[in-house]
Amino acid sequence: MFQNLSERLEGAFKNIKGEGRITELNIAATVKDIRRALVDADVNYKIAKDFTDTVKDKALGSKVLLAVNPGQQMVKIVQDELAELMGGTEAELDIKGSPAVILIAGLQGSGKTTFSGKLANYLKTKKGKSPLLVAADIYRPAAIDQLTVLGGQIGVDVYSERENKDAVAIAQNAIKEAKTKNKNVVIIDTAGRLAIDEVLMTEVANIRNAVTPNEILFVVDSMTGQDAVNTAKSFNDRLDFTGVVLTKLDGDTRGGAALSIKYTVNKPIKFVSSGEKMDTLDVFYPDRMAQRILG
Ligand code: GDP
Repeated sequence: MFQNLSERLEGAFKNIKGEGRITELNIAATVKDIRRALVDADVNYKIAKDFTDTVKDKALGSKVLLAVNPGQQMVKIVQDELAELMGGTEAELDIKGSPAVILIAGLQGSGKTTFSGKLANYLKTKKGKSPLLVAADIYRPAAIDQLTVLGGQIGVDVYSERENKDAVAIAQNAIKEAKTKNKNVVIIDTAGRLAIDEVLMTEVANIRNAVTPNEILFVVDSMTGQDAVNTAKSFNDRLDFTGVVLTKLDGDTRGGAALSIKYTVNKPIKFVSSGEKMDTLDVFYPDRMAQRILG
């Protein structure tokens, strides 16, 4: 994961690690290399610059110049700042209430339906919850089939109304169903489009207004880099979501989305998804991710 970024950062530290004497000059050179590595990983230039300005200030202010092992101290500063950039500490999922309602939104193909299944599986097996999956895609019958198959695999009930073309009513009916069947988390998989459009946004906003969810999770394909960040901004402006799910981290992703989303929309990444199987979901820990990036 983020192999190129890791290698580039390692390269950036190479000189400073080998130096007997560290000067302001070689701190500046290291910082410049870090900035290039971030931009190469598809981090927006302004974010990369802000990041490296902070690293430079901290390095100059924290007596790196006088430290016994300045190279290591510099790596530590970058690691801490990377964790901070990705949100600092992990963000908890709000699953209080009976039932708790989690609304899933994102573009078509982002991995929404797969994630809905994974989340239900996670809540069932790791949190002892009794989830109900809801297929609220009124445009694609195949999406209902897909969720039904996933539900079957993980042993979670799926609610759908094939003839109903009112997504808000389906969501409301599903919550009633959850109450009668003692399900304590309702996960609503909404329709997606290939690009952001008004009908889609209005529909998700209407569902949100009708069911007042505990969480609105925005699902985004991490392989799409800066596009992922722009899409996140559009969805957040409209929906004010509560968290981000980064999918396809098992692919050849450069890291830009993971590093930039929190900075751009000020919402935490809550989960990362890395595969098509139902157990490939992880809670997102910014500090562990930063550690991994710096190897
Ligand atoms: P939706 O249109 O947003 O509901 O997206 P889907 O859940 O149908 O996912 C689109 C495609 O991406 C499917 O072929 C999924 O199997 C695949 N997919 C979803 N999540 C992941 C992931 O984390 N890693 C990989 N490699 N593929 C994924």
